Amino acid sequence: MFTTTAKFISLDGKLVPEDEARLHVLSPAVKYGLTVFEGICGYGDHKGENLNIFRLREHLVRLQQSMHIMRYDRSYTVEEMTEQVIEVVRANEVRDDCHIRLSAHILGTALMDATGPVALSCGAVNRSRRALDDKAVRASISSWARIDEKSMPPRVKVAANYHNGRLGEIQAKADGYDKAIFLTGAGKVAEGAGACLFMVRDGIPATPIATEGILESITRASILDIFAEELDMPATERVIDRTELYLAEEIFFCGSAYEVTPIVNVDGLPVGDGEIGPVTRRVWDAYQAAVRGESARRQDWLTAVYSQAAVAAK
Ligand code: PMP
Repeated sequence: MFTTTAKFISLDGKLVPEDEARLHVLSPAVKYGLTVFEGICGYGDHKGENLNIFRLREHLVRLQQSMHIMRYDRSYTVEEMTEQVIEVVRANEVRDDCHIRLSAHILGTALMDATGPVALSCGAVNRSRRALDDKAVRASISSWARIDEKSMPPRVKVAANYHNGRLGEIQAKADGYDKAIFLTGAGKVAEGAGACLFMVRDGIPATPIATEGILESITRASILDIFAEELDMPATERVIDRTELYLAEEIFFCGSAYEVTPIVNVDGLPVGDGEIGPVTRRVWDAYQAAVRGESARRQDWLTAVYSQAAVAAK
């Protein structure tokens, strides 16, 4: 999915060649996974001229929230981070679909209660375009429960949290599935390893509520908006049982990297007729129109990298 690596990475405010962007092996970032991060998608336009970053501001605000909850001793303004992101994308001359990886690390050689020094890094890698029909997955309910507020903060994108998803993904693949779906400790549906989830049951779209141990996903929020404003099909945010997934007509993952990823089978049971459903297709079409800049009403979700005003306007 991610093909070419970037030529330049920005580290601590400086652009450096990719192989010089290194962290100390004894840093809390390395030892304890004390890195908060965002994965942000850029989308090329049809002419191959401009690149639009999807919901950049929302990602930067969430990174600030992650730094706050993880008690970093410094933060960055949205303007500072916007400038670094745009600088990296331009330095790498990225004009087609890409995944921008922005992280805030705790450096130094102190122990796990370190709150600084903080350094920001940003890189961008190319990303191939995929049709919806090539994205369908078979999922299993993981025997690993999703982390919860009593132990780790689920609404924070801190690297250490991702071992939960990693273990579930490895297990799912070992069991012959593509992806894992995590339940909460109370046995309710939470999300995937790097994606939130919607189901359509009795014609009504539903997604787990934000207090069910999920990441407060920007794609989820965008799709809730698309359901309400464009598809005339308001979605509910509610508690979802495991067995509802066995009865749903349609299920899909959503996330910056996953975009809209149909789930056509859960635990060996076909979802609906086992094919990508019509609602999933409508959501995909509306989402693609938004990210590609083809939706007039969604222009404020995009930051155009090569327009003169890109930095000043945000
Ligand atoms: N859950 C987790 C654990 C994630 O890592 C992601 C990807 N950021 C998501 C959900 C989807 O979030 P978003 O739509 O903001 O990318």
